[in-house]
Amino acid sequence: MSGHAVVVGAGVFGASVARSLAQRGWHVTLVEQHVPGNVRSASGGDTRLLRAAHGDADWYAVLSRRAREQWLELQERTGRRIWEQVGLAWFARDPEGFESRSRLSFERLGIPHEWLAPDAARDLYPSLRVDDLNGVLYEPEGGVLHARVATQLLVEDCESLGVRLEARRVTPAEPPEADAVVWACGAWLGPLFPDEVELTLSRRDVFFFGGDSGWRRTPGFCDYDGPFYGHGEIAGLGVKIAPDVPGGPVDPDTLDRLPSAEREAEARAYAAYRFPALADAPVVGARVCQYALTGDTHFVVARHPERQDWWLVGGGSGHGFKHGPALGDYVADCVEGTREPEPFHALGPRTGDAGLRTAAVG
Ligand SMILES: Cc1cc2nc3c(=O)[nH]c(=O)nc-3n(C[C@H](O)[C@H](O)[C@H](O)COP(=O)(O)OP(=O)(O)OC[C@H]3O[C@@H](n4cnc5c(N)ncnc54)[C@H](O)[C@@H]3O)c2cc1C
Repeated sequence: MSGHAVVVGAGVFGASVARSLAQRGWHVTLVEQHVPGNVRSASGGDTRLLRAAHGDADWYAVLSRRAREQWLELQERTGRRIWEQVGLAWFARDPEGFESRSRLSFERLGIPHEWLAPDAARDLYPSLRVDDLNGVLYEPEGGVLHARVATQLLVEDCESLGVRLEARRVTPAEPPEADAVVWACGAWLGPLFPDEVELTLSRRDVFFFGGDSGWRRTPGFCDYDGPFYGHGEIAGLGVKIAPDVPGGPVDPDTLDRLPSAEREAEARAYAAYRFPALADAPVVGARVCQYALTGDTHFVVARHPERQDWWLVGGGSGHGFKHGPALGDYVADCVEGTREPEPFHALGPRTGDAGLRTAAVG
């Protein structure tokens, strides 16, 4: 099956779907209201972590491994740097927690990993507090993506495959004419389809600290029970420390992207606690973005209930970036009818928490 597809939204999800469809011979128009990789979109962040650990959820571990190969292929083919192979460390406080479940998943799936005793993990960073840790799950093949650049590169790759990029805002009231329309609108998806998609938009502040050169290429980290995550010095940005605590509701169009003093204090306190060498480091940068959270942190990939040729794709829930290219193939399979979407990506109420990102709530 092929024909004309319109993909609305040139974030990592939409750009990936557009690329996958174009690779299969579809004529694709990719429509973006701002510009691809704009900082109001979740995909417009400077960096995003790529990890395989997803607790018990093997489906996402497999997707992230497949996507990693595709990101590496894109970097190799284009000669543009989008990937930092720095590894990723999970600070495990609870012996039965997310990290232990992820370790079992890695064993089931044959994903490279190490389980480090707290003292052995000290060597990963210029300084690391370990007295509250049970161990550290280390992913040597995890790392950091240059998210904004990677999104823009995906769009360039789309254009080289003949995808037409169009700058405008599309609405379901004046829908595009096509054989298939994929609405991959990030934080805008819920407001566009209020009867079908329930998303909570939750603000997140990200900080960069001025560490010394010892922080160059140190591993990304997730402290699930903190909840904080970040990475070492990359591309001159500084050491990233991000509190993954619930922020207030946001309107992605009108939000002033200035960091909150309260979140900054939390980031400084965490930096001093976990990485004592950063106790006096200055804040050298900050970003404000938003999560588009589903109730259970599973994504949304579903047909519109009344328009079988429309697909609703989103609910990245704070962990979607890394999966982009592999998610694009999955959605393209669904559009072509060669597979059905997973039941856990369906529309409708979501209960429980699949625990797919670092914070348990909001
Ligand atoms: C602070 C922060 C940290 C994160 N950390 C990580 C991480 O470490 N690892 C990870 O894997 N993920 C992470 N994520 C999540 C990840 O960034 C998102 O899941 C992913 O980028 C979502 O991509 P998207 O394409 O669905 O949405 P977006 O990137 O928001 O893109 C949607 C696009 O659609 C456009 N659009 C919307 N409506 C319309 C319309 N009507 N017409 C035309 N265009 C439209 C928008 O302008 C936008 O460009 C993080 C997110 C945030 C906010």
